[in-house]
Amino acid sequence: MNATVELWRPPPAASAPPPGFPALLRELRLTIAAIGQRHARAALASSLSVEDVVLTHAIVTSDAPIEAFFIDTGRLDAETLAVAAALEARFGVELLIMRPDPRAVAAYVGEHGRDAFYDGVALRKRCCEIRKVEPLERALAGRDAWLTGQRRAHGPERARLAEHEFDIARGIAKFNPLAAWPDAAVWHYARQFDLPLNALYARGYASIGCAPCSRAIRAVEDPRAGRWWWEDAASKECGLHVTPSAVATIARVVSGT
Ligand code: SF4
Repeated sequence: MNATVELWRPPPAASAPPPGFPALLRELRLTIAAIGQRHARAALASSLSVEDVVLTHAIVTSDAPIEAFFIDTGRLDAETLAVAAALEARFGVELLIMRPDPRAVAAYVGEHGRDAFYDGVALRKRCCEIRKVEPLERALAGRDAWLTGQRRAHGPERARLAEHEFDIARGIAKFNPLAAWPDAAVWHYARQFDLPLNALYARGYASIGCAPCSRAIRAVEDPRAGRWWWEDAASKECGLHVTPSAVATIARVVSGT
């Protein structure tokens, strides 16, 4: 990307919390505690994003019996993997690591090539199925709830995201505790607790997935513009959150609204 282009940057650090932050924090803690009380086999599906680092911290400091896992697709940046190591060192927790089936990866690479995802949406989605979706299904097998760091501010495709959904495809609850959080609140939380963050954020990456499918964006672009940038916006999900059947919205866990 041209060095003269103004890249996306995280929200500037502020000395005071953003408006509404205390209420968001209070509700987050209540939500995490309620999930821990109502679900014995809940897990955070972490992408090691700033949101998932915030959720990991909220879980660890709540003592809620919620596990966390991330999917090492085999194509992650070293900067992303460093976040997992930093979280484990900082909090003394062990993140479960899910990996794709090596036979499926080898078959895809052998038939299409390692970077065939650039050749079309179908091949891109097949790569995501093998490297992300199938490991996710294994990670969620036997669980009664899962948590994600998705937020409405991530873009129009997530504008109607609920805090609490029912994942019909898997028959389990799904929580997006940060759904309503603005960028400023997420980054304030991370800075307040000096949480380990992916170094790629400081290089203009607003959303970080696999290395060959993520890049820095300009300040004026949609936050997810750097993901699969060669595709139309309509195809930009990896399948982790768009399941074969709809996800139904049910009542919010704490407030009941
Ligand atoms: S994000 Fe790219 S490399 Fe990662 S699983 Fe999807 S297509 Fe494959």
